[in-house]
Amino acid sequence: MRLLTTEPDITRREAAERLGLSSGAATDLVDRLKRLDLLDESKAESTGPGRPTSVFAPHPAGPLVLIVGLQASGWDLRLSDLFGRLTVLASEPYRDDRPEAVLATVAAAVGHTVEGAGTRIRCLVVSAAGPVSGTFLGQLSARHWLDLLDLEQLTHAIPSEQRPPLLVGNDATLAGVAEARTGASRGSSVALHLMVATGIGGVVLLDGEPAQGAHGAGGEFGHLPFADPALQCTCGSHGCWDLAVDGRALARHRGDPEPADPTDYAQRLLTDLAAGRGDLTRTQNAAESAAAAFGGGIAGLVNAHDPEMITIGGLGPLLRRSAPMAFDRAYRAGLMAIHRRQPAAVVDSVHGTNGPALGAAYLGIDQISSPTALERWADLVPDAG
Ligand SMILES: [Zn+2]
Repeated sequence: MRLLTTEPDITRREAAERLGLSSGAATDLVDRLKRLDLLDESKAESTGPGRPTSVFAPHPAGPLVLIVGLQASGWDLRLSDLFGRLTVLASEPYRDDRPEAVLATVAAAVGHTVEGAGTRIRCLVVSAAGPVSGTFLGQLSARHWLDLLDLEQLTHAIPSEQRPPLLVGNDATLAGVAEARTGASRGSSVALHLMVATGIGGVVLLDGEPAQGAHGAGGEFGHLPFADPALQCTCGSHGCWDLAVDGRALARHRGDPEPADPTDYAQRLLTDLAAGRGDLTRTQNAAESAAAAFGGGIAGLVNAHDPEMITIGGLGPLLRRSAPMAFDRAYRAGLMAIHRRQPAAVVDSVHGTNGPALGAAYLGIDQISSPTALERWADLVPDAG
């Protein structure tokens, strides 16, 4: 099942080869997965001589992951099948400033979806644009939600006997999982992912598994003290790296007031700069400073974690492109000599804005394809045999 999530187009013959199965054992395994409503199979288009083979699809009555996205400006609801194929069910702006009201709306939509899908939804994963710990969201600074919120309440409209397990992840962490499983850092033994929005989030990935810390709160790299210690951060600390890289840094360097939405502000400013619009000198200087702070901080993380490669997402690629020399100079200058001989490549992420939902799908699929979860699923399938 894991192989099919990362390579959904693989043929039965290739899959058997990859897993070291004889064709008889592969047939037996596929038959069992079909009887368990996990897998479906159809003839592969012929690509030349040789015996015909088949390709796979998730079973039309198979298990699903329900994904809630809590972003800076709105929420969405998606379903993922066992192959990580996403369907958007809802996508709405926040219509209320109070977090309790927003979470009640989302909980109602979750309850409605689970009611319609019966027992097929086997895991609920929340991707949140803020620091998380267990099922708690620490803050959604873009919405000025600064209190700890228990996202367990998103399951309250589901009858208790139908409640699927709940996983809560930070969006940058989940985007890193997507890059490591099927994106730009696929196959790396150690990769680092960094996402720039309002602040910088990220994660270290070991063979595609996120090193999330004891409570899922690991990877808050934006709160390393890489910036001026005189700057106060919303997290309660001082001199956080966030403040030297994101839209707040660009505004400070340009002499603008602090933007209400730093992500949107940075996006507009850097897009204008790329198009040659606006006050170019001031913006270029601001971009040089922020890109240098970004590159220098990444060097520090390379020194700490020794990744094979670094993937950057969110506004990261745009920021680097707006001042590539400043980024590169600071990156190289910050590396220890042992890393400078062959600096780890910093590459743009490939999944873009889909990354967090895709990473959420992959972690949900890990959960529902665990041996215990599959046993529970098999008990629900009437003709499992
Ligand atoms: Zn901070």
